[in-house]
Amino acid sequence: MPERSSKRKAAADFIASIEQSGPAAKKAKAAPRRKAPQVDAGPWPEYFKGLEKLFKSLNTVIAFCHARKHLAVTFDTIRSSVEGLIKQPLDLARVAEIKAIIPDLVRFAYVEAESIRVHHDREVASSSYSRKSGRKGSPDFQLAPAEDPSRCEHVLVLDFVETNKNTQKIKEAAGKFSAPPALTQQQLMKLIEKRSQSFTRAVNELLAACAANGDDPVRLVQDAARAHVPVHPLKRTRPNDVQEEESANSGSNQPPKVVPDPQLRLPIDTIIKRLTEDEHYKGQIVKRREFQAKDAVWGRLNRTLSPAIKEALLSARKVEGFYSHQAAALNAIWDGKNVVVSTSTASGKSVIYQVPALCNLEEDKSSTAIFIYPTKALAQDQLTGLQQLLVRVHGLEGIMIAAYDGDTPKDRRQNIRENASIIFTNFDTLHASILPNEDTWRHFLRNLKMVVVDELHYYSGLMGTQVSFVARRLRRLCAAVGNRRCVFVSCSATINDPRGHMMNIFGVDDVEVITDDGAPTGHKDFLLWNPPFLDEMDPALGRSSSMQEACYLFRYLMKHGVRTILFCKIRRTCELVMKSIRHQLTAEGRQDILDRVSAYRGGYSVADRRRIEKDAFSGHLLGIIATNALELGVDIGTLDAVIMLGFPFGIASLRQQAGRAGRRARDSLAILVGDSLPIDQHYMLNPDEVFEKPTEPLIVDITNEGVLESHLQCAADELPIRLQDDGKYFGPCFEEVCKSRLICDKEGWYTTHPSYKPRPTMMVSLRGIQEDKYTVIDITTQDEQHGAARVLEEIELSRAIFETYEGGIFMHQGLTFLVREVDHDTRIAKIARADVNYYTKPRDFTDVDPSQTYRIREIKDSQQRSYFGRIVRKTVVFGFFKMRETTILDTVDLDSPPFIRSSTGFWIDVPRPTLNLLIDKDINPAEAIHAACHAVLSILPVFVLTALGDVGTECKAPQKEYMQKESQRKRPARLIFYDGTAASGICAKVYDRTHHVLAKALEILEHCGCEDGCPACIRSISCTEHNIVQNKIGAQIVLRGVLNLPIDADSIVPQYNRYHITVVEAEPVGARGIPLEPDED
Ligand SMILES: [Zn+2]
Ligand SMILES: [Zn+2]
Repeated sequence: MPERSSKRKAAADFIASIEQSGPAAKKAKAAPRRKAPQVDAGPWPEYFKGLEKLFKSLNTVIAFCHARKHLAVTFDTIRSSVEGLIKQPLDLARVAEIKAIIPDLVRFAYVEAESIRVHHDREVASSSYSRKSGRKGSPDFQLAPAEDPSRCEHVLVLDFVETNKNTQKIKEAAGKFSAPPALTQQQLMKLIEKRSQSFTRAVNELLAACAANGDDPVRLVQDAARAHVPVHPLKRTRPNDVQEEESANSGSNQPPKVVPDPQLRLPIDTIIKRLTEDEHYKGQIVKRREFQAKDAVWGRLNRTLSPAIKEALLSARKVEGFYSHQAAALNAIWDGKNVVVSTSTASGKSVIYQVPALCNLEEDKSSTAIFIYPTKALAQDQLTGLQQLLVRVHGLEGIMIAAYDGDTPKDRRQNIRENASIIFTNFDTLHASILPNEDTWRHFLRNLKMVVVDELHYYSGLMGTQVSFVARRLRRLCAAVGNRRCVFVSCSATINDPRGHMMNIFGVDDVEVITDDGAPTGHKDFLLWNPPFLDEMDPALGRSSSMQEACYLFRYLMKHGVRTILFCKIRRTCELVMKSIRHQLTAEGRQDILDRVSAYRGGYSVADRRRIEKDAFSGHLLGIIATNALELGVDIGTLDAVIMLGFPFGIASLRQQAGRAGRRARDSLAILVGDSLPIDQHYMLNPDEVFEKPTEPLIVDITNEGVLESHLQCAADELPIRLQDDGKYFGPCFEEVCKSRLICDKEGWYTTHPSYKPRPTMMVSLRGIQEDKYTVIDITTQDEQHGAARVLEEIELSRAIFETYEGGIFMHQGLTFLVREVDHDTRIAKIARADVNYYTKPRDFTDVDPSQTYRIREIKDSQQRSYFGRIVRKTVVFGFFKMRETTILDTVDLDSPPFIRSSTGFWIDVPRPTLNLLIDKDINPAEAIHAACHAVLSILPVFVLTALGDVGTECKAPQKEYMQKESQRKRPARLIFYDGTAASGICAKVYDRTHHVLAKALEILEHCGCEDGCPACIRSISCTEHNIVQNKIGAQIVLRGVLNLPIDADSIVPQYNRYHITVVEAEPVGARGIPLEPDED
């Protein structure tokens, strides 16, 4: 593919668009690809003069409409004005001809009518909905209910779309605050002029190309225009006529008009080839790696299976033999070993524990087993699978297997405890319901032959530490009832150190590790896709939206009948992508595809999730947009492609997600779409690391005394603890914690501390503190027809304050809802459907302050100290922005109660001389400190396994920092970082390496080529305040000051800080008696 300069792009696109319209047009192909920087084609034919006149009228009218209203401009809005200028009726076909000439610049399509309104809540504020409790300072959010949302009206939009320097600047200006952007007269004239030039240039290039080839330019344009005449979505006939489909499939790169049967789709290789020939392609693929198909490697069992089991496997699963890893695992289990199998997704891992469980039952009907899964959904899935197998095994007809978890009805529990041979459960149930009731489970535990933990890699970090103690409590109880033969079997994705992890989780040391994957795989393609620069000539403008690139790929693949899953990192992105896809497919008239796309994420009701899973599994869905909730193996059938929007939370996560696509006899595709984040761009520059870097180590920390203590309190309640007997289960801190936290009786038995009584497991939750939840209720239909309100979601308090505030836009399945009313006492948020083409972003400020110091350490070569301790965050949501993409359309004030949380974290005070230097040089200290904190946050993934939001900082809010009046709120000059979830332990790890981390952040900052900050250094998508209060030089000074590195004060050009100083020297937080740790890093 020859490189195209952006200047010639319009012509190239033009040619690309006419390539599809028939053999006659193809002749013009070669010419415009020559290097011809600026073409002057001489005088224009009349036809093009006429088009130019029309273009100029459109240009003027649209620009003025747009500048005033910030709305998408519809055909109807501009029609009369344009007709007034051109003095004749405005013809759709003529507009399509203009679009054919400059396809990238013009948007001409049908969209949902509701989706282009912005301010209608204002317009209908005085409608029949009256507020119940108007708070002072809060606006009126009442909105007439949407029409029946399924009956969307469509309007024809005619508008310019551009991603160039000019509009980018306008966008940035808009970001700088409050008022929506209003173009000045001068800016407007410039914009019009620029569009005019684009048109002229495109026509010149076209004319030159045609002259060179002897083509008729008028015919070419008119032919190409036919594809650009918009068709009303509801009038489209579908499936389209077969002829059109055939011609589309025969040679052109355009996706077929009818989605092919996914079974009969094109090979991935062909699809990639077409993708790179598509007009959208600008060299985005920075790496393509192919993984060849692999044949099965078979293994041999050391014992003969009974004919009954053999037949069942054959008839239920078509299993005729065992892959090498399956056979090796089965043999090891039969030898009485603990086994961990770490192989790729879909390599047939469940057989590994199902078969021995069935063999055990054949030998001894009283034998039992526990199968543990990270989620209830997965347990249900696996239960069904084993049931289907079990009914086919002659001789085991009476055997009962069952799920036993939080959803199991009370009246069924006793029956299961007494009669089930295998239970499907999770660690939470084991911890809270099975272990504390050892007496009722004694029979089951005594006969327990096998404990299976599937998806072992899931248990890492705090969760890993928690479950490791649960597993050890289980081993201790089994031993107490006289059962010492139980084996532990785990299956896991491909992980770094399966043996070590298995040993850590169970506290066992004889582990057989199986990693040789004998399962066959199809051919796999992996692409790294980096969004192109907005302007090749000016990389500083950044790259185009990764989300839009991912949406494009998603639509492209679905149109080719490729069943695709698109993974997003956070729920919000998931909804924004769904909204975009909804919009784009509607505009393209592809309701047929839209009907087969669904979003899937946490927070949805169980019923909704099950329905989506079922749709996916049955093959009805063509596309799923998911968060990593689907990363774990819930079976949703076979997918052919995975798109990852942004580098997932770690290499392990990336491989898991990529593994969701592909089946044995079929080729598959995984695409990583790079975000602008430093970590993403790092992998785009070093693509081989994506394939070669080992997965992150899984963390289990049995020396975490807090977690150890809570489990010892539980264990002592299950069975009093004896130091000499139980040390082997609980690690090196065991004795000390028993002695200091438990109660010892005269005979040396340790029992639970009274503060944990009567039920210690009630005080210990494996998944952290269970937060209060807000219930989100959809009242759309209730209002309309007195119908029933519907519970849409339940969301945790910590998210509710940012997602359900009155007037905010709440998203569900890519549909937008207006938050009508939030009651903080009953924790109910009422929302109603409202199709809007903006989203809202809360405006808040958070004070992050240390409240207690636990540890202090030196920072190498510096007088400053790094502190670790308790941190309190106080968040106030005082309003919100209405946004479209990155543009702020409006700002709204709110009055809501503060939200206070506490967790752990670390901080470093900025030395007085550094603060003075900033002030001397007229650099805003708040900007400097905020930027320095972001520089640190953005390099954390290099040091620890973190996800977005795992670690946060105090983000400086422009509304607070740039106030006209001097504020009473002064903040300490301090770099501060906290754990997003309490006890994740991440800040503690970073604190141990403070010097390294700060030095690395400074290095990145000083080597970044940008002028005043970019996503690769100080800008972060996790900044809750839009990265506005930032200063790159200031950040360098702060980091140098803290590290005590030389600063050449004379070389710093003084800046002009127009704002009040909001930062004062930090007061140390009481730390008397805490020993100073040396920096040995
Ligand atoms: Zn930079
Ligand atoms: Zn920030």
